[in-house]
Amino acid sequence: MNLEKLQNGASALPQFSTLAPFDFQPRTRLIFGVNSIERIGELARDLPAAKILLVTDAGIVAAGHAERALRLLEKAGLKVTMFDQSEENPTTKCIEQCVQVARKAGIDAFVALGGGSSLDTAKGSNFVLTNGGRMQDYWGSGKATKPMLPLIAIPTTAGTGSECQSFALIADSETHQKMACGDPKAAPRIAILDPVLTLSQPMRVTACTGIDAIAHVVETAVTKRRNALSLMFAHEGFKLTVPNLPRIFDNPKDLEARGRMQLGAAMAGMAIENSMLGAAHAAANPLTAHYGIVHGQAVGMMLPLVVRFNGKDREALKAYAELASAPEIACVSDGLEEAVNALVVHLEGLLDLAQMPRSLADCGVNRSMIPTLAQEAAKQWTANYNPRPLTVDDFAALYEAAFKPRAHGLQSTA
Ligand SMILES: [Zn+2]
Repeated sequence: MNLEKLQNGASALPQFSTLAPFDFQPRTRLIFGVNSIERIGELARDLPAAKILLVTDAGIVAAGHAERALRLLEKAGLKVTMFDQSEENPTTKCIEQCVQVARKAGIDAFVALGGGSSLDTAKGSNFVLTNGGRMQDYWGSGKATKPMLPLIAIPTTAGTGSECQSFALIADSETHQKMACGDPKAAPRIAILDPVLTLSQPMRVTACTGIDAIAHVVETAVTKRRNALSLMFAHEGFKLTVPNLPRIFDNPKDLEARGRMQLGAAMAGMAIENSMLGAAHAAANPLTAHYGIVHGQAVGMMLPLVVRFNGKDREALKAYAELASAPEIACVSDGLEEAVNALVVHLEGLLDLAQMPRSLADCGVNRSMIPTLAQEAAKQWTANYNPRPLTVDDFAALYEAAFKPRAHGLQSTA
């Protein structure tokens, strides 16, 4: 970098650079700790709020977490209405139902308790309740013109990082199109990270959400929008998640590993908020839309292929190698290609440990659908941020590769 040139304004910063400009404003107060959910009453009251909509799902009710949150809120003198109908991959129909309940109860704050779906349901409903219209009106960024209600997010999974983001992913009930609806005002006012809550997750959920969190840090570490700050979150998130997911598979009650995983997922969320995602998410969304493949599985299947694809870009290759060096999966000084190969092999090992499907054929995907899937993947907003631009044919080649049994061992990425 020629600083003299920069001082004279004669040269713009390169597109890929840790010196890329950013505008960072933390919007979410983060509270982390064992049994930190006990503070929910006092925190909600101090917002200030009097009438709460507790947004959750049937699994969280069954685990007893919803009842506990409800009691804590009521003990603090708050009136609580519960909406426990959040669904996986929340739809516009689910949002309409939630808004109806919120409107009837005359609430002044949301508390979302659960996985990314409950958090996104509360976030999405907040748009429609406070700004009117329907969910589709907020597809994109910054379309809420009126103030929104405060939201307290309490994740019970370590995955989406939705608790640290201003975006909600809502699927159109008619078209199944996943819409990313975001606004700075939609970001949770407070996120309570209590690792105890993640102990009750079924192992399948731990595996899928854990792989998703790892995909978030791998994708954010190389996107076109990455900057010094998002890289810091991505690298720290990678160090926290990658060694700890296998520890949880070994011992699901390992609270320390659960805590590190939860922190890593939240940091991944902050990285996404500041640098967006990439092609693995773009390729995964049509698989979920057409075949109902769980998000973490779909992203996991595509991730190693996307890393190899992006590894042909010199800057991305370097960024992956640096990412892999921090938790000593690889060492940059051994060569960038070797480091990225080691990263891919490590990711594939994690996918195997998580018992993720090996190929699209195992998920019931029909090969004849590749052209449709590729067309749709190329239109995903997140594809724009991938470090290497992708054509429809590139996506088709990625899907084609995802039908073949995964090759282990070293391969050339050059
Ligand atoms: Zn994801």
